[in-house]
Amino acid sequence: MKDKILNAPFMQDFLNITHEMWLKGWHERNAGNATYRLTNEEINENFASSVNDRVHPLLNKIPELAGEYFLVTGTGSYFKNIRQDPEDNIGIIRISEVGDSYTICWGLSCDGLPASELPAHLLSHASRLEVTRGVSHVVLHSHATNLIALNNVLELDTKTFTRSLWEMHSECIIVFPDGIGVLPWMIPGSQEIGKATAELMKVHSMVLWPHHGVFSTGETLDEAFGLIDTAEKAAEILVKAISMGGVKYKISNDQLLELAESFGVKPLDGIL
Ligand code: 13P
Ligand code: ZN
Repeated sequence: MKDKILNAPFMQDFLNITHEMWLKGWHERNAGNATYRLTNEEINENFASSVNDRVHPLLNKIPELAGEYFLVTGTGSYFKNIRQDPEDNIGIIRISEVGDSYTICWGLSCDGLPASELPAHLLSHASRLEVTRGVSHVVLHSHATNLIALNNVLELDTKTFTRSLWEMHSECIIVFPDGIGVLPWMIPGSQEIGKATAELMKVHSMVLWPHHGVFSTGETLDEAFGLIDTAEKAAEILVKAISMGGVKYKISNDQLLELAESFGVKPLDGIL
């Protein structure tokens, strides 16, 4: 079973994407975490006869995720090390039939546990499953440098952040027309921040935790990665513009509306 799981395409994608995220500079030390919800085919191919012996309760019951399997990064694990030692740094968990606990079915050897942000990941999966009618499979959390840098100069609200990023690069409104939701500063790893993140995920596919990092979601790992990459690039452009003396010219309101119309996307209400 060991080689089969390690060679499975979903696993290889996960190892490659998490490595790419490390190379981007978004994952110092043990920063960030990632979860991927397996498809029925991937479950049947790999877990037909597995024995589960490590059961852990979930503080908040999530019946919407009952029976689902997730590939998860381990708490304290370094993205830098995932590809060279997957079994120690990541694992696969199965949510119980009523959604009140999980078992570790594979990996997280050396008594590892899933990421401390598991509540934010699982509750966000539940939100996105509903919004996308079952299509969404991925939640990523990164400490993307420029998105965090902007927390020091921009008003910390959804409208300011969404608009400021859209104005920096024509791709942004096309890639994330649903904007980036901004939470107030909160304690990471808590049930409260998990619930608040999942609430914003009902509207946005990306959520910013001020002075901490960003969460993104998607159907595929590429899609969720691409969201952070696009927002982070726009943030980098804005940081550079501010460093060069400030923004003088940007994409105008009318141009943003024109972009949305030509690419057939509906911009988040209340931003333009
Ligand atoms: P973990 O090591 O528990 O995944 O935590 C990293 C992190 O980014 C917390 O927000
Ligand atoms: Zn974090």
